[in-house]
Amino acid sequence: MQVTFWGVRGSIPSPGPDTVTVGGNTSCVEVRAGSLLLIFDGGTGLRLLGKKLASSMPITAHLFFSHVHWDHIQGFPFFDPAFVAGNVIHLYGGNNVSRTLEETLAGQMDHPNFPVHLTDMAAQMHFHDVAEDRPISLSAGNDSTALITAARGNHPNGVWAYRVDYEGKSVMYATDTEHYAVVDPRLVKLASGVDILVYDAQYTPEEYAGTAGTGGSKVGWGHSTFEEAAKLAIAANAKKLVLFHHDPMQSDSAVHEKERRARTLFPLCDAAREGVTLHL
Ligand SMILES: [Zn+2]
Ligand SMILES: [Zn+2]
Repeated sequence: MQVTFWGVRGSIPSPGPDTVTVGGNTSCVEVRAGSLLLIFDGGTGLRLLGKKLASSMPITAHLFFSHVHWDHIQGFPFFDPAFVAGNVIHLYGGNNVSRTLEETLAGQMDHPNFPVHLTDMAAQMHFHDVAEDRPISLSAGNDSTALITAARGNHPNGVWAYRVDYEGKSVMYATDTEHYAVVDPRLVKLASGVDILVYDAQYTPEEYAGTAGTGGSKVGWGHSTFEEAAKLAIAANAKKLVLFHHDPMQSDSAVHEKERRARTLFPLCDAAREGVTLHL
C-alpha cells in the first residue's frame, strides 16, 4: 500500500510563508491498495490529487468522507475527474445529520454559492451509506481485496474513522475526533495492531486547555491532542503514528515542535506533511 498526504490541515486552508513546509491544504489522503484508488476526505488537497489523476483517466475512485464539515468537502467542486465523462466515483459517508451526503455535496454547489451544480458534473457517481457493522470489501485486482471498516468518533454532528486492510498491511484514518478521560474503546478496537495510524492531533495540550495564549479552551470542539494520539497508538499497539489535521494557527515550526514532543511519548511518529508518501 501507499499513503499520500494531499491536505493535512484542519478547519480552514492556511497558505502563507509560515506553512510552506507542512502545507496549508485541508484534509485529503490518498491510499493505493493494489489497483484500488481510495481517497479519504475531499478538503482542498483533493484539488491537487485531481490534477495528478488527469494523466491516468478514465479512473475509478472510492472517496470516503469522515464527515461533511467544510474542510472535508470543499475540494470536491474543484476535483477535475468529477467533471469528466467516463470516470466513476463512489462516494461513501453519512452521519446522523439532516441531509444525506449527496444533498450536502450538492448543497455546497448550489446557486449562488457556486456556478456549477453537482448534477452538471459528468463523471458517474454512486453514493453509499457507511455502517459500523458492515465492512466494505473492494476488489484490488489480481484476485485480491481490500477491506474498509468504519467506527464512529467523537465530533459535533458525528464522524467516521476508517481502516483499510490489504494483504496483511493496514492503515487507519481517524480525524476530527475528541478524546475523553479514557482512550476511546471504539478507536482502540479499530486501530488494533494497525501499521499506520493517522490521527487528529490538532492541538497541543496547552492549546486544548486554553493556556497557550491562543484563545480559550477547545474542549468540546471535537478535536484531540498529540498526547492523546500517542495514548491511542500505545493502547492499540499501532506501529506508526501520523499526527494529522494541524490547527491553521500552527506554523511550520509549531508543527515541528509538536512532532518533537509527540516523539518523546511515541517514537515512531511523524507530523503529516503535504506531498509526503508513505510505503507499506
Ligand atoms: Zn476538520
Ligand atoms: Zn469537523
